[in-house]
Amino acid sequence: MAYLGTPTATKFIIDQYQFAFQKKFGQNFLIDSNILEGIVESAEITKDDFVLEIGPGIGTMTQYLCEAARQVVAVEIDKALIPILEHTLSEYDNVEVINQDVLKVDIKSLAEERNNGKPIKVVANLPYYITTPIIMGLFESGVPIESITIMVQKEVADRMQTGPGSKDYGALSLAVQYYATAEVQMIVSANCFMPRPNVDSAVIKLTRHQEPAVEVQDEKLMFQIIRASFNQRRKTLVNGLKNSAELSFSKEEILEAIQKLGKPETIRGEALTLEEFAELSNLLKK
Ligand code: SAM
Repeated sequence: MAYLGTPTATKFIIDQYQFAFQKKFGQNFLIDSNILEGIVESAEITKDDFVLEIGPGIGTMTQYLCEAARQVVAVEIDKALIPILEHTLSEYDNVEVINQDVLKVDIKSLAEERNNGKPIKVVANLPYYITTPIIMGLFESGVPIESITIMVQKEVADRMQTGPGSKDYGALSLAVQYYATAEVQMIVSANCFMPRPNVDSAVIKLTRHQEPAVEVQDEKLMFQIIRASFNQRRKTLVNGLKNSAELSFSKEEILEAIQKLGKPETIRGEALTLEEFAELSNLLKK
């Protein structure tokens, strides 16, 4: 089986199987071999690695992953792609395709069973609508992860990397930075996909910290505070926290904590750094 990462090879498979692209699954397949090689290089995959690929499509990137890794598990939601994957991956004996919604797969058990609980590498070209739940799910559920190398919309990559003062700063930025170092590896033009999406994409690598970036007594509380702060971006921090259904602090308690943090009463949540959110949640925990 020749590599699929060209417009001609991709079109050939699509026509052969009369495959109909499904918008609801965010299906834009990569057709540029330089980008494919770049992703696998960025992920630094070796023959020791177990790789989870999310959304293999017709198997374009999966072929590269099979060459580089010890074992690959690819989770694909669209059952119309399963016979195609059987064909395009038939030469590889180190791959298993699971036909399932990745959000329903117990990835922790998968890593336990297939990789003896050792940290796994995740590689994915994700549809935008599941980017955040997938990343948060992987980090928060305690799956042993070494790195996540993913293609996302360029704007989402910006959100992951940014800090206070940017309009892109939000709960996703803080969550990603709490768990990982985020580095954009390359910007990918919309022309590298079939069909062509409306926006450019970026490959971003999230390398998990050995220890979280800040010390926090109650992680869950910190993320509730973060979510509450950004749910009402235009409100002050004190109002954002007071109005949250997830939290039950009084205005006085919140004001006292903000004062101890050394911030003015009128401060907005979007002005706080990750360290300050951690400190605020430690103060409120008391
Ligand atoms: N990896 C391929 C490539 O780079 O050419 C395909 C990428 S395409 C942007 C996204 C893929 O994810 C599609 O094959 C789509 O069917 C699959 N997908 C979408 N939602 C999914 C989900 N919840 N679970 C598993 N796969 C999903």
